[in-house]
Amino acid sequence: MSFVLPFTAQDIRRAVQPAFMLGVKRVQERPKPRASGLSGRARNQASTLSGTSPSDTHEERDYSAFTQEQGRKAEDITVDALKFLRAEDDGVFVGWRERGLPDDFFVTGHMDGVFWKLEMDVCPACDGSGEDYTDMDPDTETECPECTGTGEVGRAIPAFEENGEPIMVGFEHKHLGTWAYTRYCIWGDNIEEANFDHLIQGALYCEARNLDYHVWVITSQDARAMNTAIERNRDAKDPKVRYANNAWVDPKLMVFVVDMRPWRKLLTPHLRARAEALSRWKVDDGNPANVKPEYDPDGLNEYGDINYPCSWCEYRTVCKEDGDSGIAIPCLPNQENR
Ligand code: SF4
Ligand SMILES: [Zn+2]
Repeated sequence: MSFVLPFTAQDIRRAVQPAFMLGVKRVQERPKPRASGLSGRARNQASTLSGTSPSDTHEERDYSAFTQEQGRKAEDITVDALKFLRAEDDGVFVGWRERGLPDDFFVTGHMDGVFWKLEMDVCPACDGSGEDYTDMDPDTETECPECTGTGEVGRAIPAFEENGEPIMVGFEHKHLGTWAYTRYCIWGDNIEEANFDHLIQGALYCEARNLDYHVWVITSQDARAMNTAIERNRDAKDPKVRYANNAWVDPKLMVFVVDMRPWRKLLTPHLRARAEALSRWKVDDGNPANVKPEYDPDGLNEYGDINYPCSWCEYRTVCKEDGDSGIAIPCLPNQENR
C-alpha cells in the first residue's frame, strides 16, 4: 500500500507564500510626516502624505513581511531580557512601548520605549494597611483592591541617574540585514555615519519626549552571513574598510548608547522646518507634483544603474511624469537642495 500526500509541493508553496508577503500596501493620507520617514525623500513623502498608491513595487519589499515579523519578535525578546539589567534596582523595564508622540508635536510616530524602574510607595488607597474599609460587610473580602493587600504600590520612575539626577533614556530596536548591519560594524562609535536616518528618528523621539540618551539595540538578520563577512574583513588590505577588530563588532547583536542632547539641539531646527513645510504644503495644496524632487529620477551611477534612492522609490514612475518643478522643502542637514 502506498500513501499519497493529498497535496503537492506547489500547493504548499501557494499556501505559505502569502504569509511572507506584505498585505496590499494601503497608503494612509496623513496631515504630517512620521518620525520614521522624515529623512525620506521630500516628493516621496509628499506622495505618501497625500495617500497616493505606489505605482512601482519591489518584489524584495513585497516579501519583507517575514523579516518584519522577525524584527517584532526580536524586539520582544530584547525587552523581556532587559528586565534583568540591574537587579539591585528591582529591575529595569522598558515602558511606553508603542506610545504615540504628543499630538502637538511636529511629526507623528511611535517609539519603541523608555527605560523605567519601579519605586514602591505606601498605597494611598489603604494607607499601607492592605485592607479595604469601604465595604463594611464582614463576609466580603477586605483586601485593598489598589495594592491587592500588600500595602504598597509601584510607581514608574526614570531608570537611570547621571550625577545624582534622574535621566530619561529611550530605547530603539533595529533588526538589520547584512548591509545595514555592516555599516554599524564600521561606524559603531559614530551613529551619524552608521545610519543618519536612525539618528534622525531617535532625535525626533528624544525631542518629543524630552529624553537625554537613546539606546539602540541592533540585531542582525543573519549571524552566519555576518560571521563570514567579519572573518573575511580581517584580511582587508585597506585600513579604512577594516572593521572586524572594532570593539563593538559582534555578528548577532550590537548596542549603542548615544547622548542625544547635543543632537537634539543641532538637528531639531532643521527637522522642524522640514516637517512643518511638508505639513503646510499638505494643507495649502496637497498635490505631490508640486513638491520639488530632491534627486534626479533618471540619474545613473558609475555602473549605469539608476541612482539610489530613486532606484528604490515606489513613486519613481509618477515622479518622472510629474516633472522637476515644485516648491523646495527644507533639506536635511546632511543634504543640499537641488
Ligand atoms: S524617484 Fe527619486 S526624486 Fe522622485 S520621489 Fe522618488 S526618490 Fe524622490
Ligand atoms: Zn492598598
